[in-house]
Amino acid sequence: MNDRISKTEAQWREKLSPEQYAVCRCSATEPAFTGKYYDHHEAGTYVCAGCGAPLFESNAKYESGSGWPSYFRPIAATAVAEYQDTSHGMRRVEAKCARCESHLGHVFPDGPKPTGLRYCINSAALGFEPAEPG
Ligand code: FE
Repeated sequence: MNDRISKTEAQWREKLSPEQYAVCRCSATEPAFTGKYYDHHEAGTYVCAGCGAPLFESNAKYESGSGWPSYFRPIAATAVAEYQDTSHGMRRVEAKCARCESHLGHVFPDGPKPTGLRYCINSAALGFEPAEPG
């Protein structure tokens, strides 16, 4: 799972939609309440839009009210890489896919128990795989 993936910018542009490219490769943020997963409640696994790596499970998703899909923990500690981000005059923790380094969103210390963390993730950086029935 930790096989790193790297692509050229041209390859990323070919693979991703313009909106996905802006978020995943240029760290854009989609407008709140516009993404396809902030109000999404099916059981399953959220995966990286860039490389398909599993990132978050639906049982760690919660209603933050922020307008972005929010999770209190990643599917595995190694799935999401965290970096200090001082862009836009703020000190934030950036969350990236550990496998392909696509930008996902940010991590804030105002989440629910048990972690107290809020992984605030752009829908455009995610795909979804429904759980197997039964
Ligand atoms: Fe990825």
